[in-house]
Amino acid sequence: MTVLVYSEEYKKHDEISHPENQSRLNAMLKYIDKEDSLRDLDIVSPPAASKNHILKVHSKSHVNFIKDLCIRGGGNIDFDTYTTPDTYHVAKISAGGAITASKIVLESDQSAYSIGRPPGHHSNSERSMGFCIFNNIAIAIEYLREVYKIKKFLVLDCDVHYGNGTADIFYHDPSVLYISIHQDPRTIFPGQGFVEEMGEGAGEGFNLCLPMPAYSNTNDYIYILEKILKPVASQFKADFHFLDIGFDGHSNDPLSNTNLDDDFYPWITTQMKEIAHKIALILEGGYDHETLGRCNVKVLNALNNHNENNDYDVDLSHVSEETKSLFKTIEDNFSPFFEF
Ligand SMILES: [Zn+2]
Repeated sequence: MTVLVYSEEYKKHDEISHPENQSRLNAMLKYIDKEDSLRDLDIVSPPAASKNHILKVHSKSHVNFIKDLCIRGGGNIDFDTYTTPDTYHVAKISAGGAITASKIVLESDQSAYSIGRPPGHHSNSERSMGFCIFNNIAIAIEYLREVYKIKKFLVLDCDVHYGNGTADIFYHDPSVLYISIHQDPRTIFPGQGFVEEMGEGAGEGFNLCLPMPAYSNTNDYIYILEKILKPVASQFKADFHFLDIGFDGHSNDPLSNTNLDDDFYPWITTQMKEIAHKIALILEGGYDHETLGRCNVKVLNALNNHNENNDYDVDLSHVSEETKSLFKTIEDNFSPFFEF
C-alpha cells in the first residue's frame, strides 16, 4: 500500500486569509479518515531536510534570507507569498517530506506521496514565489543523485500553474525531463510555460510544456497526454519518476479557469503507475477544500489499485481545435528529440 508522508508541523505555516493555508491538509486528512479502503494507510512523519541538502538547489543568500526573515517574525516575500516565524522550519520539513517519499519508493516496493506544504514548484534557486518557499522536488532530485546515484528523472507536473522554478533549476540539464501540463500562461500565473520554452544548451528538448487553452476539460487534457506522455517516457527511460500533483485545474478551484473533473486525477495517477510501477508523488496546489479532499482519495485509491477501472474514453467532440493544434505544434517543435 502507498505510504503517505505528512507532518503535523505543516500546520505552523499558516495564514488563514490566504488560499494556501493549513485547512488544505485538514480537508485531505478528513477525507482519508472517512475512506474505508484507506484504513490501513501508512503515515510517516518526515525529518527536516538538512541545510546542506537545501543548498544543493538554493543559493546560500536565498536560504539565509528566508531564515533571517522568519527569525525577525516573518512577513510577505511578494504580494502572494507569505512567511511566518515558523516558515523556515516548516519549509525544511516540506523538502524533507519529498526526500522521505523518494527514499521509500527506492527502498520498498511501494509508491509514496508527500503532502508537504508550503509547496515548491515556483521557487527557483534564488527566489521564493507563488506560495512556494523551497523547491521540494528539486531538493529530492539532488538528494537522490547524491545519495543513491540515480541518473535520470522524469517529472510530470499536472498542477494548473507552470512550475517555473523547477523548470528553471533544470533548464540546462538533460538528465531531468520536466513535463508540465498547465493553463495557457497568457491567462494565469506565472506568465511562463510556453511551448517554445524547451530547455537550453544540453538541456534543450528536456523541458516540455503543454500550455492548455483556458477552459480546457478532461477530454482536452487526456487527448494530449495520451499522445505524449507514454511515448516520451519510454524513449527517455528515466530511472525515477515523480508525479508533481496539483488539484487546482479542477473546475471547482477558485484559482484557475481550467475545467478538469474528478476523473482526471485517478487517470493520470494510473498512467504514471503504468509507466513506472512505483512513483513518488509530491503535492503542489489545490484550493477548493472539498474537491482537494475528494480527488486526493481517488489518487490514493488509484495508487493502491482500489479503483476497478481508471480508463478514460476521450470524447473527441469535447476536444477543442486549439488543443488539437497545440499537439501539432508540440510534435513539430520536439521532433528532433522525441517521436510521438
Ligand atoms: Zn498551482
